[in-house]
Amino acid sequence: MPVSDSTATGNAWWVRDGLATLDEPGVLLKDALDAVFTRWGAEAGARQQSYPALLRAEDLRTLDYFRNFPHLGSPVTRIRPERLAALAAHPPGATALPAVDLADATHLLPSAACYGCILHLTGTSADTPVLITTVAQCFRNEDHYDGLRRLWGFTMREIVCVGSAEAVRAHLGRHQERIAAFGAALGLTLDRQPATDPFFEKDGSRTVMQLLAPVKEEYLYTDGTAVASTNNHRNFFGERRAIRHAGRPAFTGCVAFGLERWVHALGDRFEGDLAAALRAVRRAGEGS
Ligand code: ATP
Ligand code: ZN
Repeated sequence: MPVSDSTATGNAWWVRDGLATLDEPGVLLKDALDAVFTRWGAEAGARQQSYPALLRAEDLRTLDYFRNFPHLGSPVTRIRPERLAALAAHPPGATALPAVDLADATHLLPSAACYGCILHLTGTSADTPVLITTVAQCFRNEDHYDGLRRLWGFTMREIVCVGSAEAVRAHLGRHQERIAAFGAALGLTLDRQPATDPFFEKDGSRTVMQLLAPVKEEYLYTDGTAVASTNNHRNFFGERRAIRHAGRPAFTGCVAFGLERWVHALGDRFEGDLAAALRAVRRAGEGS
């Protein structure tokens, strides 16, 4: 196996180009964590959904994605039909497929799990809060990658609430308590900090607005890794996608967990003993 970011017990995972391979103890731990967060969703009344693996560029445009997060995007494309024969006759020698051989990209890999949910809810209306939980393989072009702490491809579990401003606030508050209690039961020190989204324009009006009225809170492990966040989108998505609650544009908010980051933090906390971490997650999950 190539590049290793292994723990004290040996090679528990490998990371190359921001892409992770987990061995069985890591897989079991990640699945157990996901089961805990999924159960929190179910207990809050969320139904489980899964969405297409790719998002349409056209849909993301309506969410200001290219204004706010163009740098994170991973467009997906295909080889131009008229270049196929030439490519087959002369396969590229280098590591990359030249852009001239590629078609324009109509789709992107998701950089957060809740986009699929918001897009699916387009044009719907409800009088009671709608809760949905989903998990997605997410991708972000970051300026650097760092083991499981900062990946290009990672797994995000989210619990999304759609409803009144009050329902969203209550949803985020309830999960802030659950995250704190779960962290404490695992012996993980998690610091709650106001945060801003990783906007393209760091000093743009959106960043300033988020600083003035924090809508995002992060849970930081002692080494500064954000393992979870709560995000209040207010009625932005409700307005953009005609999602209505009680006759008005709905408020939305999400609780997001980066599963590999939890594996990283627990690997550190349990000094590489992922089996011990798994037992602790099962115990803490039952009590949380
Ligand atoms: P950061 O500030 O560390 O870049 P973020 O604020 O951009 O994170 P969110 O948008 O809140 O992250 O994403 C939800 C969760 O997804 C984060 O709390 C984290 O656990 C996880 N996550 C985000 N980016 C990455 C990444 N590049 N690699 C691994 N996990 C990530
Ligand atoms: Zn989200």
